[in-house]
Amino acid sequence: MKHKINISKIMLDNAEINAILQVLKSGQLTQGEKVLEFEELFAKYIGVKYTVAVNSGTAALHCACWAVGLKEGDEVITSPFTFAASANCILMCGAKVIFTDIEEETFNIDPYSIKQKITKNTKAIIPIDLYGQPYKFDETNKIAKENNLTIIEDACQAIGAGYQQLKTGKLGKVGCFSFYATKNLMTGEGGMLVTDDKNIADKARLFRNHGQKERQRYQYLALGFNYRMKETEAVLGIEQLKKIDQLNKMRINNANFLLNNLKNIKGLILPEIIKGNYHVFHQFTIRITKDFKITRDQFIVYLKSKNINCGIYYPQPIHLSPHFKKYGYQKGDFPVAEKISQEVVSIPVHPYLTKKDLDYIVKTIKSI
Ligand SMILES: *Cc1c(COP(=O)(O)O)cnc(C)c1O
Repeated sequence: MKHKINISKIMLDNAEINAILQVLKSGQLTQGEKVLEFEELFAKYIGVKYTVAVNSGTAALHCACWAVGLKEGDEVITSPFTFAASANCILMCGAKVIFTDIEEETFNIDPYSIKQKITKNTKAIIPIDLYGQPYKFDETNKIAKENNLTIIEDACQAIGAGYQQLKTGKLGKVGCFSFYATKNLMTGEGGMLVTDDKNIADKARLFRNHGQKERQRYQYLALGFNYRMKETEAVLGIEQLKKIDQLNKMRINNANFLLNNLKNIKGLILPEIIKGNYHVFHQFTIRITKDFKITRDQFIVYLKSKNINCGIYYPQPIHLSPHFKKYGYQKGDFPVAEKISQEVVSIPVHPYLTKKDLDYIVKTIKSI
């Protein structure tokens, strides 16, 4: 096979390109009517009262941490097996990051290990809906409730996913989405904070725009950043929202095909779906363990030689990066996260894979 199968593919349809062209001709390039419309449609889609559009998932997380009032001396519990933004937002507010280990079946934060990390200073938990699968809602939210902790849900990878009747973003007190170019719903860069709490939404809105009240420029009511979204991103978001359920369904169909056809391979562990969860497969992440024929890294090189590109999300748990290490974290602190980071490999599952691509991926893996 000559053509390359990539881990993600970005395709804009004509409606999306036309919508962007209309904005370019309109003279209103940043946060205006289209951002407002996107916020309203997004609120309807998730089923929340308030939405605040921002220019990245990181910005949404930072706004959320700020709006719930995190400050110096506060502790926030999160996973070391995620993208750095999930924990960096805590540091940005001057609070302390308390990592805890993950479960190897779900790659998500282990609810029972959260319990052991709670102190009188603990204020919040940031669970991540990693790879598109909601975190363990029942157990985690019970612990949060019993200990009066705020849940900030990092739903950046999981738009359209859910647990029972609840959509991701709504599982905690405040939810954060990313519309980065390779996310399930994408606007190039972009993000959204969602909540049912008016106070949090109001604070986030101020924080997004240097503390200025809407339509009252240069009256600075609080500290803030420039986290405004562009109109070109908003119209892309509006168009993407129309097709997100369909795009997610295509990912799920691809995932089901891979789940069915890669069963019973020694040393290859397939992703598990927690009961009650609707998993939208931002990534299809398998584990190549020591019982497999070749190592994880050899597996990736082999697939690459066959024109299939894979990804490692994430090759190193974040507690081992220098800016967290200096708080005293070290190798051996989170054995599950550290082991899993050596085993995971994400194989293509994106909506634009053809039946031929999928057959070829399965055949290539089986040939090992
Ligand atoms: C993508 C992502 C983010 C950050 O989003 P950006 O839009 O890139 O700032 C945060 N957390 C997780 C888990 C993500 O995957």
